[in-house]
Amino acid sequence: MVQSSQVDRTDFVVVGAGVAGLRAAIELASQGEVLVVTKESLGESNTHYAQGGIAVATEGREDVALHLEDTVGAGDGLVFRPAAELLVQEGPGRVAELIDWGAAFDRENHNPQGELLRTREAAHSRPRILHANGDATGAEISRSLVAHAREIARSHCRIRFAEWTMATGLVVEGGRVVAVDLLDAQNVSRRVGVRAVLLASGGAGQVYSDTTNPAVATGDGIAIAAQAGAELADMEFYQFHPTALSLPGVPRFLLSEALRGEGAYLRNDCGERFMERYHAQLELAPRDVVARAIAREGMGANPADSRLVYLDMRHVTGIDLTVRFPGISRFLATHGLSLQTDLIPVRPAAHYMMGGIRTDLDGRTTLQGLYAAGEAACTGVHGANRLASNSLLEGLVFGARAAGAILADDSGFSQTAATAAATVLGLGDEETSLVEALIGRLQRSMWAHAGLLREETTLRQGIAELTEIALALRQLNENGRGSRRLFEANALASVAGSILRAALARTESRGAHFRNDFSRRDDVHFQKHSVERNGEVRFEAW
Ligand SMILES: Cc1cc2nc3c(=O)[nH]c(=O)nc-3n(C[C@H](O)[C@H](O)[C@H](O)COP(=O)(O)OP(=O)(O)OC[C@H]3O[C@@H](n4cnc5c(N)ncnc54)[C@H](O)[C@@H]3O)c2cc1C
Repeated sequence: MVQSSQVDRTDFVVVGAGVAGLRAAIELASQGEVLVVTKESLGESNTHYAQGGIAVATEGREDVALHLEDTVGAGDGLVFRPAAELLVQEGPGRVAELIDWGAAFDRENHNPQGELLRTREAAHSRPRILHANGDATGAEISRSLVAHAREIARSHCRIRFAEWTMATGLVVEGGRVVAVDLLDAQNVSRRVGVRAVLLASGGAGQVYSDTTNPAVATGDGIAIAAQAGAELADMEFYQFHPTALSLPGVPRFLLSEALRGEGAYLRNDCGERFMERYHAQLELAPRDVVARAIAREGMGANPADSRLVYLDMRHVTGIDLTVRFPGISRFLATHGLSLQTDLIPVRPAAHYMMGGIRTDLDGRTTLQGLYAAGEAACTGVHGANRLASNSLLEGLVFGARAAGAILADDSGFSQTAATAAATVLGLGDEETSLVEALIGRLQRSMWAHAGLLREETTLRQGIAELTEIALALRQLNENGRGSRRLFEANALASVAGSILRAALARTESRGAHFRNDFSRRDDVHFQKHSVERNGEVRFEAW
């Protein structure tokens, strides 16, 4: 492990140690020195918390074609087909490689030679979701990638990890990213010269008050890319997972879609199985449809609303739920609940960002020397709505592709000198409390104004409130002191602004973006991707 302050220059900096960053780092290490920086420990990422599984066609070409159609269908007319084709075609090879590196997906009879077990999730036409340890797929993927990267590090020292170190900015010279600014846990900052930077910093669930995402998901990479002048795309499309645990004072723990894949029903507080009124695929309808149905049943749109919606598995027989879902069962048990015997209260929560830093099919952003992959990036692969369990696969496929492009494009170091390490003075107690209060206000405002159900008046209210928050942050920024949380607050404000502007500009409803005042899909005007540069939104057909 290195301290970021020990590194002045390195070939490649990878920001983020989730599936996309780790997969890319492994590839990059074949031809240069890689520094993987991650804000907390290696295990703290959205990847680590992924439960349900990884979608991959495992039955030859027929299923590759069906996986493509399912992905395109879920994306509601906006999937960039060439990206989806790469995802489903290259996915099986990437997963096979991961299995070779030691990822232990669940198999029949717990036998290492047994057939891989596959489950089904919403909007998949067949069971193709591989899982590990029942409901801890992400942790196993993360474990196997870290172990493989460490093996490489031991054999030729090409990958170094800087934990508790965050990227806070990019240095652009002549239109090219030449260095990255890092801040470590001791508040020591340093500028590191690079040949290329890959932003694999994940999503931004923390922009909303209700989210399944861990605390690290504050959209930092998206914010620093935008600040450096890179284009963002499709920022209005934020996926709300329909079923997060809804208990007062308890984090919005995810109740995987695989529960519905195994037969769970949704019931309102009258006991009615209400999905019959919303979609022919019932509980396995696309995520946005289920999430809005729950909102309409009295939850989600207004956090103060007290009507409850429940997940019901009491009728499910033939599988031992505590074996199939050990992590979820354990978590529920700590709150006195059981999948076998109880109705489980649920509500939607912000889960996955379809938009992000605009990239081509090889992770190239609109800035030379800057690449992005995984949830931080937007290739258009998910369109307006991600198909369940496609994002771990996205990280593997596009993480590897981005690394390939970095190696192919490489134009060497610039002359930019690294700066000496300098300690940034921390914030005082009062300022720290103010930052936390501003973050809380921003999260509540985004939930209320740019959540599941949007309209012009609420979006404009959101923009007005964000303007006040940004002003207060500017005053804090001006005192020359800083902290991780102040940086995160700025990142959240930046991402929130992009979401609000794009959501206001898209006067139609599509996928995860629903406008009460424009409730229909409008292909004539909006079968296009929103693109934002320097705060200006335009629409482009890809
Ligand atoms: C609870 C939950 C369950 C999920 N279940 C599934 C599932 O079953 N199947 C599926 O396909 N998808 C699932 N997802 C989505 C999926 O996990 C993510 O989309 C995917 O893992 C993203 O991978 P990533 O590599 O892009 O980013 P992440 O895994 O989020 O990694 C981002 C990394 O960047 C680091 N970072 C962030 N900012 C900075 C900074 N400024 N400086 C340095 N480091 C930084 C973080 O610390 C982290 O290491 C789930 C998500 C959640 C939250």
